Amino acid sequence: MHTKTIAQLSAALRSGEISSVELTTLFLARIKQHNPALNCYISITEAQALEAAATADRRLKEGDATPLTGIPIAHKDIFCTEGVKTTCGSKMLDNFIAPYESTCTAKFAAAGAVMLGKSNMDEFAMGSSNETSYYGAVKNPWDQGRVPGGSSGGSVAAVAARLAPAATGTDTGGSIRQPAALCGLTGLKPTYGRVSRYGMIAFASSLDQAGPVTYSAEDAALLMNVMAGFDERDSTSVEREVPDYTAELTNSIEGLKIGLPKEYFDGGLDDSIARVIESAIQAYEALGAVVKEISLPNTALAVPTYYVVAPAECSTNLSRFDGVRFGHRCDDPKDLFDLYTRSRGEGFGAEVKRRIMIGTYVLSAGYYDAYYLKAQKIRRLISEDFRAAFETVDVIMGPTAPSTAFKLGEKADDPVTMYLSDIYTIAVNMAGLPAASIPAGFVDGLPVGLQVIGNYFEESRLLNVAHQYQQATDWHLQVPAEFQ
Ligand code: GLN
Repeated sequence: MHTKTIAQLSAALRSGEISSVELTTLFLARIKQHNPALNCYISITEAQALEAAATADRRLKEGDATPLTGIPIAHKDIFCTEGVKTTCGSKMLDNFIAPYESTCTAKFAAAGAVMLGKSNMDEFAMGSSNETSYYGAVKNPWDQGRVPGGSSGGSVAAVAARLAPAATGTDTGGSIRQPAALCGLTGLKPTYGRVSRYGMIAFASSLDQAGPVTYSAEDAALLMNVMAGFDERDSTSVEREVPDYTAELTNSIEGLKIGLPKEYFDGGLDDSIARVIESAIQAYEALGAVVKEISLPNTALAVPTYYVVAPAECSTNLSRFDGVRFGHRCDDPKDLFDLYTRSRGEGFGAEVKRRIMIGTYVLSAGYYDAYYLKAQKIRRLISEDFRAAFETVDVIMGPTAPSTAFKLGEKADDPVTMYLSDIYTIAVNMAGLPAASIPAGFVDGLPVGLQVIGNYFEESRLLNVAHQYQQATDWHLQVPAEFQ
């Protein structure tokens, strides 16, 4: 039962083959068994989950169920969940019980999904390996000596090890797609503004976006049906109709125009990864797609530009953690200045401090024009690259990450190498576009992800393109041996 997709579990719940309480109990038992090794959950909300499951069973009996009623799910610990500890992977929020619910998690609860717990993550979603979490590193279920990717590493490891059938993640520069690639899952970062950010702890507000982590594109569509939509409490959410994301899954992709950016296949890409991506592209050609080389000339500027914009936004967003209103407060402060500096000094980890310092620097009066303003201009050029590309192609494909999962500790002391893990994913956030990572094969037993980038609000097309590939392949159904 634990290896079934949500679509299958939903059918099993409706037919009465299993109840939500039984299903939830099964996943809770798996979490107890495997979480000590994998460390993918920060909090396990057992009592609350069993209660929600019992309610879901009543809804199922009364015929008032949605496709997600009774389905267990893990939420990234970046979403505020009322009455439940919400840490964002930081010591700063180790004692924080959220007083309100994020829109995203509220929508899942309203649909009848059962929250199993809150998943581990890089501190304040800053990282690509899940090693910056105050709660310790998460292990990759495919090889526990390796990282699961980040920052949604806990969500992704939980789903890959079948400790949850699906999870939520957030993606500011790649944090859904890169870990999904490293753990062999389907991850979707929606168009900026498609999913409400209300109650999602802010890292870089112009880039942050929540999305689903699932086995299959079909499951991602089921989650998107719940997550997507306008929210008046998020001024950047877009008032636009939400389609049924499952409706186009089965459309033919005959004639689909795929663009392959030549910059994505230059130099930095591991040969073995390039071969996996090439065979995925061939599979698409066999399904009737046509392939065309394109150019995204400003690709090389995406990472450096992001590391001006994201730290700038984080330095202002994280100024609210001052030891006064919520979060960590130092003992016996001498005066207000001491309270601020020691609370922040003790509460934040090294990577977060590094970003706050960079952000404060690039926003300072003397450097604003040279760095922040310049970065904003390059950001526009990056968006223009994509706009031009989408005049001639329907989707853009390439690798999600430049390598498979790396060893724990391998890049932890070298921030720049770590930042390059997101070289193929970051430009998408800079432009606000939707993109998915789908499992496309293995190299030395480790999963490889294919990235599919779409035009604004074309999530349905991305899911259709992913689903058609998943009908022809079974990479997305592989389960690590220990967790079968
Ligand atoms: N790895 C990138 C960073 O460290 C992206 C993180 C994210 O998408 N949240 O900022």
